[in-house]
Amino acid sequence: VQDYVGFDTITQQMERKFLKRGFNLNVILVGESGMGKSTLVNSIFASHLIDTQGRRAAQEVIRKTTEIAPVTQMLEENGVRVKLTIVDTPGFGDQCNNEGCWVPVIKYIKDQHAAYLERELKPNRERIIVDTRVHACLYFLNPGSRGLRPLDVEVLKRLTEVTNVIPVIAKSDSMTIEERTAFKRHIKEELAFHRIMLFPYASDDDADDDRVLNASIRELIPFAVVGSEEVIEVEGKLIRGRRHGWGVINIFDETHSDFVHLRNFMLRTHLSDLIEVTSQRHYEQFRTSQLRQIKE
Ligand code: GDP
Ligand code: MG
Repeated sequence: VQDYVGFDTITQQMERKFLKRGFNLNVILVGESGMGKSTLVNSIFASHLIDTQGRRAAQEVIRKTTEIAPVTQMLEENGVRVKLTIVDTPGFGDQCNNEGCWVPVIKYIKDQHAAYLERELKPNRERIIVDTRVHACLYFLNPGSRGLRPLDVEVLKRLTEVTNVIPVIAKSDSMTIEERTAFKRHIKEELAFHRIMLFPYASDDDADDDRVLNASIRELIPFAVVGSEEVIEVEGKLIRGRRHGWGVINIFDETHSDFVHLRNFMLRTHLSDLIEVTSQRHYEQFRTSQLRQIKE
């Protein structure tokens, strides 16, 4: 019978187009200096960087930065190419007087929205607009603080209005498992109390399996992470870990660190959502308010 038409190949057609074009992923890092921001990012992405030369150079830049400094690198896995831009921000909350220290960060995020809008509104716009819009903000909480500081609340409120914020407990190997559980619970309560809206957002379109997955992610937030750029040999096996007086911590060990959960969340289960929500929620909000202002 000649019933087969072939519109089921649309997914392959789209895939081919998508593979050819590649895509951008832009992540901004916010937190005090010394919280392990550069280390974590390198732990998440290092193994898929194409150009290790570039990585060295990029690290130099990242480590010395005193201003907001985007660094772009190419990642590849099974033929899929990602142009990853990491935006490092100068040590945040380092000084006693932090009044307005979020201003440049928020400005950077809004500037990228503005640049995208400008390109979109050009009479003869490019077919593919370069996308520098920030898809995720990793927000590093100091494990030494008792909870959210007033500064954290203030900054988180502003950041969540313009981008997808993912809070992490930095250097969580500096706490015992019990301390970490208590700290996590406390932060969760405070986030709820201050009505800080985090990604992934609940949506009416969500199917049941999305709901279950997102609930398990919300349970994990804030991710208690451990980063390391060191590869250590333990019983003949090479692991990425950190040495402590009491032994070696393997950052991939799920009983000691949420690192693997965070990486799966960002790159495996919610990568496309991070990009889509940026465009459909955060950028759309910016676009609407800008266009309204022009009309008035
Ligand atoms: P940044 O200033 O936030 O970018 O912090 P870095 O990534 O440069 O890290 C600062 C220091 O903390 C370095 O000595 C790292 O080796 C160390 N560090 C990074 N991540 C961790 C972690 O998860 N646990 C511990 N204990 N130390 C860490
Ligand atoms: Mg750094």
